[in-house]
Amino acid sequence: VLCVAQDYDFLYFVQQWPGALCDTKVSCCYPITGKPAANFSIHGLWPISSSKKRTDFCDRENHFDYSKISDLSNRMQVSWPSLSCPSSNNTKFWSHEWEKHGTCAESAFDQHKYFEAALNLKDSVDLLQVLKNAGIEPVDGKLYSLDSVKEAIQKGVGFVPRLICNKDISKTSQLKEVYLCADKNASTLIECPITRGGSCPSKIEFPSFGSPTPAAAL
Ligand code: 5GP
Ligand code: 5GP
Repeated sequence: VLCVAQDYDFLYFVQQWPGALCDTKVSCCYPITGKPAANFSIHGLWPISSSKKRTDFCDRENHFDYSKISDLSNRMQVSWPSLSCPSSNNTKFWSHEWEKHGTCAESAFDQHKYFEAALNLKDSVDLLQVLKNAGIEPVDGKLYSLDSVKEAIQKGVGFVPRLICNKDISKTSQLKEVYLCADKNASTLIECPITRGGSCPSKIEFPSFGSPTPAAAL
């Protein structure tokens, strides 16, 4: 087995907004355990090298093994649900994230440490509350300026995020993902060492997840 040193400089800690994932033409599926909470959830924790292009699937022999994280099961179900179809028990998503991204950070993390690190980062920042504190609530049909969303996160979390949007059926751009950066060991969030553009226009929706709240009713 050829062993390749995986070097990376920092981690992207990527959270997804279920309201946007489900509000598209392709829609979404809830995990078999039921509808997740209306909160940001984890997409992934991705090792990034500032100088090199993307590296994925760094160790094809290090397969995901659920038994290694069974003690984290409750936290995983709550914080890292899969919203892709068909409905699943989430392990396919976790397996994909470990094998594509986690194996590129094997120098720092075994499977248990990797998932636990992501969960701890999730618990360390309450993005939804940060946005609510700035008056940015998930409401259908209401547009927020991209700058106000960025600024709210910068002030509330302490670091500038990278924001990713998708489009709903009527082509309105909506907040889908928030990228923050963490140091190599995921011990703390840091300012992102590289700046990459996001994919959001200057006005975006922060759609509700759950029973729709018409903006006019507020
Ligand atoms: P998107 O095109 O939605 O940004 O990303 C699609 C997929 O590409 C993500 O789920 C993620 O696995 C991967 N990806 C996006 N950005 C990066 C990156 O900077 N580095 C790596 N290794 N993968 C990325
Ligand atoms: P990435 O390559 O972007 O890290 O991982 C995304 C892959 O995981 C996609 O192939 C997608 O089908 C699958 N997946 C399963 N559940 C989810 C989910 O809730 N969100 C995202 N973004 N991808 C998911």
